[in-house]
Amino acid sequence: MPWNRPLIIGLLVVLLALTWWRLQPEDEEIHRSQLMMGTIVEIMAGGQETSKLEVAVDAAFAEIARLDKLLSRHNPDSDVSRLSQSGKGREVAVETAEVIALGLEVAQSSGGAFDLTLGRLKSLWGFDKETPTVPDREALSAALVGIGPGALSLEGQQVSKRATNLQVDLGGIAKGYAVDRAITVLKQHGVTSAAVNAGGDMYLLGQRSQRAKHPERFWRIGLQHPRQKDAVLETVQVRDRAVVTSGDYERFFEQEGIRYHHIFDPQSGLPARGCRSVTIIADSVALGDALATAVFVLGPEAGLKLMTQYPKAEGLIVTADGTLHTSPGWTRYQVTP
Ligand code: ADP
Ligand code: MG
Repeated sequence: MPWNRPLIIGLLVVLLALTWWRLQPEDEEIHRSQLMMGTIVEIMAGGQETSKLEVAVDAAFAEIARLDKLLSRHNPDSDVSRLSQSGKGREVAVETAEVIALGLEVAQSSGGAFDLTLGRLKSLWGFDKETPTVPDREALSAALVGIGPGALSLEGQQVSKRATNLQVDLGGIAKGYAVDRAITVLKQHGVTSAAVNAGGDMYLLGQRSQRAKHPERFWRIGLQHPRQKDAVLETVQVRDRAVVTSGDYERFFEQEGIRYHHIFDPQSGLPARGCRSVTIIADSVALGDALATAVFVLGPEAGLKLMTQYPKAEGLIVTADGTLHTSPGWTRYQVTP
């Protein structure tokens, strides 16, 4: 029988491909979590060497801890606490300046809905304490005196305060910034596939590992339904994107049938009433974090208008009556069942 050369070559190619496939090491995926920045921070990293992933993830957690020390109001020695204690302002660390710069930009673009100067108001409501309470009217208006866009300004690393009693609160943006930094650290360690989640402030880096069930290996994220515990409102798929949710269902208390949560309308000093939750998909978590808070305060109409200033960001809004609104490009990320 004559040799069938094309057939033999074909078989060899198949054999080689199979051997190569067998030699490919399986992806490892490690999951770690730590209580930080007042929430549970979860990091998941994928790659081929567990020991390298461990080192990278440890470094990412260390970076978040470092930033928490710098940006937290709970640490009396933090950059932010010192800024609040200072009379007219002071020079801050590069990182603090970066967070404040972005915060001030969103404060400007949102017409003051996002506000870095709500420190006194936040303390008054006591959301960080065991039993938050509704403040009385006088205390509320006193906490709003002197705040707002223009109350804080930045030149390089020098921050100036318009009023000496101005208290700075980066709670609406600092977690997002810390997640961005954690991702940078993971990348510096050579990690190409990772997810970092700090209580709803997420970044999804690269492709999900080969263990992912779907062939495109996007990260699939189930967005929490704001009123049904453990129910998914919608599933999105992304890679190299921030997915940030602000909601009224994580930190709240009820008094006389009214829900009070921790995202404030700087106009009234009361919890913003227009939304139940806002999810933003953006390039950076810090921007997504600030936008989610800003859109939450503005409500659906003004919120979607604000989003047009950020063409690379998309948003999903659940309004107070449960209606869904999305920015025009949102469908790009939707998983159609
Ligand atoms: P979460 O902390 O649940 O992720 P947010 O990102 O919306 O939610 O942040 C809420 C925090 O932001 C509050 O605890 C407070 O520190 C701060 N904050 C509240 N209202 C505003 C606002 N209008 N502008 C900026 N920051 C705010
Ligand atoms: Mg926020």
